[in-house]
Amino acid sequence: MNPPRILAIGGSDSGGGAGIEADIKTITALGGYAMTAITAVTAQDTVAIHAITPIPPAMVGRAIAMVLADIGVDAIKIGMLGSAAMVETIAAALVPLPRSLPIVLDTILAATSGTDLLDPDAAEILLRDLMPLATLITPNRHEAAKLSGRTIDTPADAITAARLLCDRGARAVLLKGGHFDASVLIDRLITPDDVQSFPQPRIDTSHTHGTGCTLASAIALGLAEGLDLPAAIIRAQAFLQAALRAAPGFGAGHGPMGHAA
Ligand code: PLP
Repeated sequence: MNPPRILAIGGSDSGGGAGIEADIKTITALGGYAMTAITAVTAQDTVAIHAITPIPPAMVGRAIAMVLADIGVDAIKIGMLGSAAMVETIAAALVPLPRSLPIVLDTILAATSGTDLLDPDAAEILLRDLMPLATLITPNRHEAAKLSGRTIDTPADAITAARLLCDRGARAVLLKGGHFDASVLIDRLITPDDVQSFPQPRIDTSHTHGTGCTLASAIALGLAEGLDLPAAIIRAQAFLQAALRAAPGFGAGHGPMGHAA
């Protein structure tokens, strides 16, 4: 069987822990074939993002078009987008694709270190143009709060926020539990008419750089293989847990994980 072809659209992390680098490592470790459309290049270590150079949106659009036309794609994972123009370009490139093609949108707004990875004026366009095209969006607590305009203090607030995003066109929301204080971390899958919980133990480590990118890529790969959303989420969680446990301990800040099969 040919490996599932996954197109990762997002930013490059020179430190190799997050972004496109995490996507490629995850997809490869899980037996997929990784392709990229790089939206920005960062000068980044485990402590901070020191510089960002965006790639012109037209170039990213061309990369997507070339990959789709020649190689083909079984799922798409979207990460850092940067600007409103980039969001518009990506949405325009994806609109013609069949609705059955899995698209996982990791709604990245800012890095853990604080740097904005999406301009504030682009969030509304992301909600309007890109979110409805996605099979799944994967906000964390802070992203869900910002995107829905709701304060999230409790898991119940988070579910309300996710439902608001469904009202605005999200087909499914995986609200990640990492930013809630609890020993058992619960990711919740919210669809317009259901809530499912996916608990997992919290791993005590500071080497969490790229967790969101890794989870979203692993889910995209599972969907490309024909798993349904719950099965793809459970397998991606297991991969993420193993990657967290295998972190090599590099760097002075939030270090990378170990992406092994
Ligand atoms: N750099 C790039 C290119 C990313 O896509 C991401 C993903 O969120 C980050 C940095 C931030 O990673 P983290 O939130 O783990 O710091």
